[in-house]
Amino acid sequence: MYANSTKLFENKLELNQFIKDLKNENKIIGFVPTMGALHEGHESLIKRATEECDAVIVSLFVNPTQFGPNEDFEKYPRQLEQDMEMCKKYGVVAVFSPKPDEMYSDRANLTMVVPDDFYKNKMCGISRKGHFDGVATVVLKLFNIVQPDCAYFGMKDAQQLFIIKKMVKDLDVQVNVIGCPIVRDEKGLALSSRNAYLSDAAKEKALTISKSLHLIKSEYINGNILDVHKAKELVNQTLDEDIELEYLEMYDYDLLSPVEFVGANTLIAFAGKINGVRLIDNILI
Ligand code: AMP
Repeated sequence: MYANSTKLFENKLELNQFIKDLKNENKIIGFVPTMGALHEGHESLIKRATEECDAVIVSLFVNPTQFGPNEDFEKYPRQLEQDMEMCKKYGVVAVFSPKPDEMYSDRANLTMVVPDDFYKNKMCGISRKGHFDGVATVVLKLFNIVQPDCAYFGMKDAQQLFIIKKMVKDLDVQVNVIGCPIVRDEKGLALSSRNAYLSDAAKEKALTISKSLHLIKSEYINGNILDVHKAKELVNQTLDEDIELEYLEMYDYDLLSPVEFVGANTLIAFAGKINGVRLIDNILI
């Protein structure tokens, strides 16, 4: 890994030229796509990328096409300077932080990547219509601009990671997609840029999310047979009463198909709201 300084690009052609130079030097390029407001979860992806690649690119782009009309696109935290500091610390060679118009010159008539209904009409795709079309489209655009050898994504967004891997396979995109474990705070709360919206009291209540997921896992390890209803019951008993459950679902993580009982390779996925802030979390058995 090398970098004397971290270059900031807002223009995709300029970044593309920079990437061509790296390619001419035979550098292995690692890429970490993010929406910025970087925290230790993002940091773990950047760190892993720097360990495994010669040159790491990070994108900071709050992508409008993956937000619904009543979601938090406008108020999503933006903190370029702080994010640059983290990237510098890890020797990231370039940060790509485009404006929406730079990414989408004709958004009204945009050609989109549309993941199959089977993968998107479940979990977050139910309440966030069009979300995964927006995600798949922007990720493919970013892959085309950055042309990475390896791209790093968090298991925090397990459905997103699954859909990106499927897209890469189905469309023969020459990128190695690497999933990385969820980073939590010392009390177990999964880190998220949206945690910035939470008061200390709400954060304390939100701890019952990971607690309930871990409870399901320990019941399973202790030999108890858990079906979806039982798992949901456990979650409802454990969740703070101020948390509104959106879904608690269980999937085989090889296929993203629903399973009835907790078993090996079961993804137990949660989404819910506290004080209007939507949080997701999951655990893979
Ligand atoms: P975001 O900025 O929320 O779009 O996230 C960018 C990338 O960071 C995605 O691949 C996320 O899954 C990943 N990420 C976000 N939070 C965490 C976390 N707590 N642990 C690991 N990866 C994360």
